Amino acid sequence: MFDNLSDRLEGAFKTFTGDNKITEINVATSLKEIRRALVAADVNYKIAKEFTDKVKEKALGSKNVLKAVKPGQMMVKIVQDELTELMGGQSVGINVKGAPAVVLIAGLQGSGKTTFTGKLALHLKEKRKMKVLVTACDVYRPAAIDQLTVLSEQVGAGIYKEPENKNPVEIALNAIAHAQDNKYDVVIVDTAGRLSVDEAMMQEIADVRDAISPNETLFVVDSMTGQDAVNTAKVFNDRLNFDGVVLTKLDGDTRGGAALSVKYTVDKPIKFVSTGEKMEQLDVFHPDRMSQRILG
Ligand code: GDP
Repeated sequence: MFDNLSDRLEGAFKTFTGDNKITEINVATSLKEIRRALVAADVNYKIAKEFTDKVKEKALGSKNVLKAVKPGQMMVKIVQDELTELMGGQSVGINVKGAPAVVLIAGLQGSGKTTFTGKLALHLKEKRKMKVLVTACDVYRPAAIDQLTVLSEQVGAGIYKEPENKNPVEIALNAIAHAQDNKYDVVIVDTAGRLSVDEAMMQEIADVRDAISPNETLFVVDSMTGQDAVNTAKVFNDRLNFDGVVLTKLDGDTRGGAALSVKYTVDKPIKFVSTGEKMEQLDVFHPDRMSQRILG
């Protein structure tokens, strides 16, 4: 992931090899390349432009300070810091306080919701020592219930399901009652997705959300879809005002545009990234580590 972006950014710093100074002309040459690199990574032009404007301001503002630092190193540091900011600055964890805590999972079909539900269950069980219940509120695809059942067994989480019930609000409420009765610490509610955003789907998930008042609503999106991922995030956020983003399939996303621009677009933190099909392949998202990786 990000290989191309890393290579191109490295190229953009070539202007500053040796003692080449930070001057308006040198900075402008470098910024043009940085902007192109971001756009090639599928970052929207407006975001790329704003990004390079900020880098420019910092670079020109820094030309007389820190004489000990080489201009090239200084530019790398400035770009790295700005990339960290663009991706959200600080890492933001999930809120799982409650008896039980409730986490609602939303997103399009195929984005990786059910896989993530299993991964999050494992994460909370292993890292936070929580007793986890998952529930399948997909009333359209019986296969989705089977898939979650298999995953719950694999990760050692409880499962609540009502295959005959076609009312997702009822299933979610019953799951929470079941969790209370059986002393689960957290309930993860997996919901139905559609292939594209539609009104009925949005209404259904909004109804579930309003009924269960989750601690966290997480929006799951396939990072390989680049700008589309960002646009879908906007539609879901306008309707659901979700708490955080989960980027999936980062293992297949060579460009990285969604990771770089989703925070800017919806102003919600990326909380987790998923990097494979195995249950262990989930990471808490750290913007600083990601930008270090890009410029590593
Ligand atoms: P849902 O319809 O949103 O519940 O999506 P699924 O969880 O069923 O995932 C759709 C497909 O994507 C499945 O084949 C998953 O194994 C796969 N998948 C999910 N997350 C990842 C990931 O991070 N990396 C890769 N390579 N595949 C993933």
